Amino acid sequence: MDVPFRQSHGWIEVITGSMFSGKSEELIRRLRRAEIARQNVQIFKPKFDSRYADDQIVSHSEMRIQSVNVSSSAELLRCVERDTEVVGIDEAQFFDAELPAVCNRMAGMGKRVIVAGLDLDYLGRPFEPMPNLLAVAEYVTKTHAICMVCGNPASYTQRLVASDERLLLGTQGTYEARCRGCFDPTLAGNPEKTQVTSDPRTVTSDE
Ligand code: ZN
Repeated sequence: MDVPFRQSHGWIEVITGSMFSGKSEELIRRLRRAEIARQNVQIFKPKFDSRYADDQIVSHSEMRIQSVNVSSSAELLRCVERDTEVVGIDEAQFFDAELPAVCNRMAGMGKRVIVAGLDLDYLGRPFEPMPNLLAVAEYVTKTHAICMVCGNPASYTQRLVASDERLLLGTQGTYEARCRGCFDPTLAGNPEKTQVTSDPRTVTSDE
């Protein structure tokens, strides 16, 4: 049957910002409110992200919500059920380039699609597929952390260990939030500079 489930149109919401800016918390908050309103909600995250729990989205503040792991945006689309009204997606930057098209498709089917992900990588470059998602989204929320060096609003994710892996999962002391002025991408690429600082507030405790 090709008859659409609902007459009303769907839309795309994106929640984006640096690490420690509360993206997952905001995603969980919106999904919980939909569940309280007894809407049919499905939640996905990429298989790659297994830091905390296999079948849950967990924020840094330990808020959690049930989710399903998928290995591609095509698999995500296959898993979405016909009567699902709200689709939540976390860690969208770990998905493939088809994610914006898949989100568009789901919005076209009348679903509310809420996507959270990092907008910039550890070098401060736009983190695909987020730029295209931001372009097609009806609503964009930029969340900010607080700079660990100076206390200003932070939109960069500072990597504190030397690695040129774009997908390096964060453990304690691997990343911190920084503002534009305090962000230093060379910290991640030059082992000599890593962890060298004269400001005691920036010293991390992962020894
Ligand atoms: Zn700063």
